[in-house]
Amino acid sequence: MEGANKAASNEVNKNSGCCACSGGSCSDAKFLNPTPMLDELEHGPWPSFIAGFKGLAERTKKPMLRGVMDQLEYSYNTKMGYWKGGLVTVDGYGAGIITRYSMIKDKFPEAEQFHTMRIQPAPGLHYNTEMLRNLCDIWEKHGSGIITLHGQTGDIMLQGIEQDKVQECFDELNQQGWDLGGAGAGMRTAVSCIGPGRCENACYDNLKLHLKALKHFVGVLHRPEWNYKLKFKFSGCPNDCTNAIMRSDMAVIGTWKDAIQVDTDEVKAWVAERGLDALVNEVINLCPTKAITMKDGEMHIETRDCVRCMHCLNAMPKALSPGKERGISLLMGGKNTLKVGVNMGSLIVPFMKMESDEDIEAFTELIEEIIDWWDDNGLDHERIGETIERVGLKDFLEGIGQEIDINHVTRPRDNPYFKAKY
Ligand code: SF4
Ligand code: SF4
Repeated sequence: MEGANKAASNEVNKNSGCCACSGGSCSDAKFLNPTPMLDELEHGPWPSFIAGFKGLAERTKKPMLRGVMDQLEYSYNTKMGYWKGGLVTVDGYGAGIITRYSMIKDKFPEAEQFHTMRIQPAPGLHYNTEMLRNLCDIWEKHGSGIITLHGQTGDIMLQGIEQDKVQECFDELNQQGWDLGGAGAGMRTAVSCIGPGRCENACYDNLKLHLKALKHFVGVLHRPEWNYKLKFKFSGCPNDCTNAIMRSDMAVIGTWKDAIQVDTDEVKAWVAERGLDALVNEVINLCPTKAITMKDGEMHIETRDCVRCMHCLNAMPKALSPGKERGISLLMGGKNTLKVGVNMGSLIVPFMKMESDEDIEAFTELIEEIIDWWDDNGLDHERIGETIERVGLKDFLEGIGQEIDINHVTRPRDNPYFKAKY
């Protein structure tokens, strides 16, 4: 296994047009300066970002890349980071570019500026090859050539550009249909899973809702004006492939209200292939709420006890599928460490239909209401989940006109509680 990964790492070097070395020893090349500390990162079983970085630098001969490697080597030696922020933007925008100025530019002038352009992803994160080729050509012309696809923000991260090249680069990208992503105290770039584009579990058209929300909030995405950042993620079903519940202020999760659809012939076929023990041990016993039982030799799911965890549907994808009455749940407050530590989203709205344009309009109106409340009650640099935690869930729900349910407090994260509300 180790040998295979090593070979893969070497292949990265060859493919990236590196110098004549056999991988991992590019510091001998003339273009790059020696970086013995960084070279250590090429050892071990996994492909190394340093090997990739060296390959790109040797192929493109961009001084910026050499400067950044020199500064990184210096950082590893001194155990300090040397990047500071600032403001770089393009005409009409107040966000979207993350600045990186070197604090030691006198020592490493080639690394003086290494800004990142955040580029909005397509809903569902799928692209055609022509768009990606154009993106790469433009980026290699103006920037370093380094791309992260996708960062945790959801954006395509174009890493490494100087300020005087940003406007021209953006103009060319924009002509190809790309736009800058969010940054700062405003709406951030949203993310959606592939949803109904390819996945049978999708309970609403999350790609459409993502696009509509993006268009509705695009002004505050490019020109931040709120207390702090606010992120949407749209997952088509409770499998939550976008990590919405953990990593977004507004987690929009597809769900259903009625019974899980059971195809009895497919259940029989599953049992014939895997055995009854597998049904009991791998499906029934693993239901977190014991909602599944066998009755007269047939599988029965008690809808009132099902918390839509998706386990049984994932285990038996041909036999079980989400119910017919589909829509979304809205959870709020998920985020990584900030003032009060890591939070998962709490369920705020158990169910909203999301079929028609009117449903989408009702959704955006609710979000506007929530943002107005946050504007009035939030502190500077406070995520909305932190504001809710500080003032209390009851006051928040009253403030946005939502009906308060005891389950909001007793079971905030794991129970869609349709049985209590509907
Ligand atoms: Fe499919 Fe659900 Fe994952 Fe979206 S979240 S890709 S609908 S399984
Ligand atoms: Fe049980 Fe989860 Fe299946 Fe619901 S979705 S029946 S909670 S395993």
